[in-house]
Amino acid sequence: MRYLILSDIHANLTALEASLAAAKGRWEKVVCLGDVVGYGPDPNEVIDRVRSLDAITIRGNHDKAGSGLADATDFNPVARAVALWTRNQLRPENQEWLEKLPSGPLSVDGFTIVHGAVHDEDEYLFAPAQALDSLADAPSTVTFFGHTHIQGGFTLHDEKVSVLHFKPDGGKPFTTLEIEPGATYMVNPGSIGQPRDGDARAGFAIADLPHCVELWRVPYDVEAVQKRMEASGLPEPLIQRLAFGR
Ligand code: ZN
Repeated sequence: MRYLILSDIHANLTALEASLAAAKGRWEKVVCLGDVVGYGPDPNEVIDRVRSLDAITIRGNHDKAGSGLADATDFNPVARAVALWTRNQLRPENQEWLEKLPSGPLSVDGFTIVHGAVHDEDEYLFAPAQALDSLADAPSTVTFFGHTHIQGGFTLHDEKVSVLHFKPDGGKPFTTLEIEPGATYMVNPGSIGQPRDGDARAGFAIADLPHCVELWRVPYDVEAVQKRMEASGLPEPLIQRLAFGR
């Protein structure tokens, strides 16, 4: 079955809708790796949309903070301000949905999903050394993770860890990762709502396992989101960074 893999949507409905439009007809089921809310201006609308997709969803750190499950004291002041704003915006049924999201790792149809890392949902996997434990201990050949907002990942083959980079070449909206027998993969589909890898386009993946994973980048109307953030009084640094993908 073909899975649409979404992560770090961060209450950005415009980026989510652009991604869904680009991926239309190419998947059968959706999974979401957490951070449905936080940073962005549309927490209720994004939760409604994710629920309408019947997406298999695990929680991220911003979902815990936005629902009130965590107190956000470990967040920087800007992220914390938005977590508190998000809490005030959420309709009760959406707050409850967010609060009840399971933590990863979660097994889905032969692959695994986590928000941060296999052993710790809040751990960031930026470098090969950080990914080694997850690669070695993952219960499946392919695990999808988010949290860093960087599309790419890591692979373990013959006891050697390599970094996966994906650069869509302009012509095609996606790059295809072929899954090699004997290798183990940690794949980050990128962030829908707040990419931080220098590419402002929304990132997501479509998995057709055990064969391949497509890593997508889709442009969206960043200014429309920035205007809604301004109207909601969200912090200026968060508004600016969307344009740079940082
Ligand atoms: Zn996130």
